[in-house]
Amino acid sequence: MPSAALVWFRTDLRLADNPALAAALRQEGDATALFIHETDPALRPIGAAARWWQHHALERLGRDLAEIGISLRVKTGHAQAVIEAVVKDAGITHAFWNRRYAPAECDHDAAIKQALKQAGVETQSFNSHLLVEPFDIATGAGTPYGVFSPFWKALRQRDNPSPARRPASHRKAIPVPKAGFDTDYAEPHWAGKFHDHWRVGEAAALDVLDRFLNERLKDYPEGRDIPGKDITSQLSPYLRHGEIGPRQIWHRTLAFAEAHPALAGQAEKFLSEVGWREFSYHLLHHRPDIARKPMQEKYARLAWRDAPAALEDWRRGRTGIPIVDAGMRQLWETGWMHNRVRMLVASLLAKNLLIDWREGEAWFWDTLVDADIANNPASWQWVAGSGADAAPYFRIFNPVTQGERHDPAGDYVRKWVPELAGLPDQWIHKPADGPTDVLRKAGVTIGKTYPGPIVDLGTSRQRALDALKAL
Ligand code: FAD
Repeated sequence: MPSAALVWFRTDLRLADNPALAAALRQEGDATALFIHETDPALRPIGAAARWWQHHALERLGRDLAEIGISLRVKTGHAQAVIEAVVKDAGITHAFWNRRYAPAECDHDAAIKQALKQAGVETQSFNSHLLVEPFDIATGAGTPYGVFSPFWKALRQRDNPSPARRPASHRKAIPVPKAGFDTDYAEPHWAGKFHDHWRVGEAAALDVLDRFLNERLKDYPEGRDIPGKDITSQLSPYLRHGEIGPRQIWHRTLAFAEAHPALAGQAEKFLSEVGWREFSYHLLHHRPDIARKPMQEKYARLAWRDAPAALEDWRRGRTGIPIVDAGMRQLWETGWMHNRVRMLVASLLAKNLLIDWREGEAWFWDTLVDADIANNPASWQWVAGSGADAAPYFRIFNPVTQGERHDPAGDYVRKWVPELAGLPDQWIHKPADGPTDVLRKAGVTIGKTYPGPIVDLGTSRQRALDALKAL
């Protein structure tokens, strides 16, 4: 029987450094590429903004694969049933995919592997998503890591394999279907502005990385905390959807640092942030349910407030706290938010407003183009205090002083909350405290053109401390 290979794409929407694709191309016969919009109830359904990104990434991937003579099929359904149908239809003898790490995903993929084996299909899976897979690194005692620093120290000392190049193919290019690939998707109206902010696809990801290294790495260690400046890489959505892999980032960054020794420290800082992503996946794999259950059990007893109006004000960016509103509006308009501001909005929700962090996690899951199955819940738990290596409970960010420190001239607030743009720097982060004549001159009327704060930062801080101390 002639061999025919299947490569099942999931969070690895790229050609380069994709070992599953490389394995399929090594087979002699035909190769079929498949992506499934999975409806299996055990898996977390993708959020809306990430789905927007995924749609465009699939269109790009389909074209890139067509250039090397491989057709991409995009299907919807239970993965096992879809794969079994494709196996039958295309006479598949070998199936390949890159691994994923949430416990439910591992169980699900293991069941599919078993079913394919029974059907006589040889299957093989690989790592493309991480520098180190969660089961491949452990403390001296053989247990999973619960603290970032020793995890990072161990990871930093390892040799990470070099990424594979974009594969060449002996197959002739094939035509791209007129209707495209991901045909069941209708672009939602709210995503209109996403196109102004993003270029989706593998080629764009490499370009974004190179520009970051050449233009912004030098300012990264300090600049990464200034939300008004675009200093960070903005690679997160590409990593989420696998248009670039961490090995590619790792090796390109180290090669850049070797060529520019003066920037070695900056490169280390950047790589350590990529290390946090690895740590999140480590936690995800070893702590099932991190999106639902606090990692520290005592946090399950916390008496969260039921405050739907405040939650809605938070979601919509009308809390009356400028840097928080700026972040929530940046999120809504672009599907992304600066890391420093993610921490501030999360802290306001889970601590000052004492609203369950899972509400915030779910909103981010739906609105972030980079909504990540590991990074999102792990980061929320870190801010809420219930995470493995979380900020101590008494660390409650003050969004006004944080704004004054990290956005001193108010550039970020002015951009995303334009109704405050006319205020002088002194009042941009606390407009409700501004003198009447200053507000009038800037065209700001608290309660009318911009809300007053929905929560008093001092008393709500004390309320959170009391609730947390009680645990
Ligand atoms: P850079 O500073 O350029 O960092 C490079 C890469 O390192 C990032 O793309 C990301 O993959 C990784 N990274 C950086 N910081 C972190 C971090 N603190 N934790 C884990 N990985 C990190 N990141 C996501 O990718 N998806 C999420 O859903 C997500 N949700 C978050 C929710 C909250 C409440 C918080 C506080 C953080 C969240 N993060 C999430 C982490 C971080 O904010 C983003 O990874 C970062 O802002 C992405 O921007 P960047 O690519 O420019 O980062």
